[in-house]
Amino acid sequence: MGLLEHVEIAPLPPERYEAVITPEKVQDVQEAIETAQEVFAGRAIWNVNSTSAGGGVAEMLRSLLAYARGAGVDARWTVIKGNADFFEITKRIHNHLHSFIGDGGQLGDAERQKYEAALQPNVEEFLTAVNTERDIALLHDPQTAGMIPALKAAGVPVVWRCHVGIDNPDDLARTAWNFLRPYVVQADAYVFSRKTFVWEGLDEAKTYLIAPSIDAFSPKNREMDPDIVLAILAKAGLIKGNNFPKAIFLRQDGTPADVVHASEVYTEELPDEFTRLVLQVSRWDALKDPLGVIQGFADHIAPASDAHLMYAGPMTAAVSDDPEGLEVLNGAIALWRSLPDAIRRRVHLACLPMDDGEENAAMVNALQRKSTVVVQKSLAEGFGLTVAEAMWKARPVVASRIGGIQDQIEDGVTGILLDDASNLVAYGAAVVDLLSNPDKAERIGLGAMERVRDEFLGVRSLIQYVQLLSRIVAA
Ligand code: UDP
Repeated sequence: MGLLEHVEIAPLPPERYEAVITPEKVQDVQEAIETAQEVFAGRAIWNVNSTSAGGGVAEMLRSLLAYARGAGVDARWTVIKGNADFFEITKRIHNHLHSFIGDGGQLGDAERQKYEAALQPNVEEFLTAVNTERDIALLHDPQTAGMIPALKAAGVPVVWRCHVGIDNPDDLARTAWNFLRPYVVQADAYVFSRKTFVWEGLDEAKTYLIAPSIDAFSPKNREMDPDIVLAILAKAGLIKGNNFPKAIFLRQDGTPADVVHASEVYTEELPDEFTRLVLQVSRWDALKDPLGVIQGFADHIAPASDAHLMYAGPMTAAVSDDPEGLEVLNGAIALWRSLPDAIRRRVHLACLPMDDGEENAAMVNALQRKSTVVVQKSLAEGFGLTVAEAMWKARPVVASRIGGIQDQIEDGVTGILLDDASNLVAYGAAVVDLLSNPDKAERIGLGAMERVRDEFLGVRSLIQYVQLLSRIVAA
């Protein structure tokens, strides 16, 4: 019985993308596929991380690796196993990388010993599976950084991909960098999401930038008929009405499935199909600023429009192992209860069922498509997949000028950027402006979709990974 979990990935045809990208891009993809088939023939590309479910990284791996396999590349996904000490330390590293103190613990020699001890058996088992003469390792995030030295010593080319970062690092972030750097510098290349996320003290020649991306054909992002949007929202208990067709969504592999689970919604009365919605979709996390989103709506948007606010996050049961999440949700409910009646009737807090990830994704898809304006008023954000998801659906997005959101939105052209995320007046004014100017909202929404088409679909990431990994193989 091994420690490692090898995740099954059914291949998907990359040719699917021909329907949504420009002919030049189709050409680029074709060339990348040919390069990949030639360079990676007889080699496996082992992606390694510490979770196969939950979170943006797992979602991205699932689809990118499926298309890579569809292109004939032996891309694999292996999940390491940690113990409680290990995850306590890696959570601390994660928090520090975001400049959060977290549990306030140290990242010293004792932690290093525990971290390395937990990784050791994973590395040993991994090395029995890998063909050290031919294969390539693509390690993801801090949990796997400690594997780099042993893999390099065994002769395996290693790329390390960091999915987290902040624009303005402080001493806390540097503590995490200092902990991880001795491992990371040994990799053949390291990948960050944007330039400001790159650490000090790394070799520039080995540094690559690859922004995250979304899958245009996943249950979360694929096209959905307006009738189906309403049917799914009604079945999920997010809008009123039952006069809709059957609530059916398509799974990642294309098979149809019924929406069967309902949301838990804090509402006086659900919106109906005609209600104009302002939407934020986020985990129940203080850094997504639910209180600011709600208070700003109550003070500055509700009085100047007819719109309702829908704030949607995962079901509380799914965050019960995350006391912080529950606390944040409870804070949002308390604020909602305290709103004046007329305003409270226009604010809805939805907890979406997490029983079936693809069903949950279809609900997010339907909510984003139904919304008139989408908000992402985060106080901190690595990339903000929710922004790209809404932009791809041609929604006008109002979002904070932070992290990777700035790479996605060009202010006034492909969305609206808020210079100061805590300024509720400016947030309210930006949303009201879009609600009051449908032409402008439509223009920005269409610009947003084109922006994602050009820069943030999975094919762009795949091309970049082929370029990077083929250089590593050639070196
Ligand atoms: N999400 C979801 N259901 C929810 C809340 C969030 O599927 O109830 C998804 C959301 O659509 C996005 C991801 O979780 O794909 C969040 O990624 P993002 O980069 O926006 O923020 P993070 O949660 O990683 O900080």
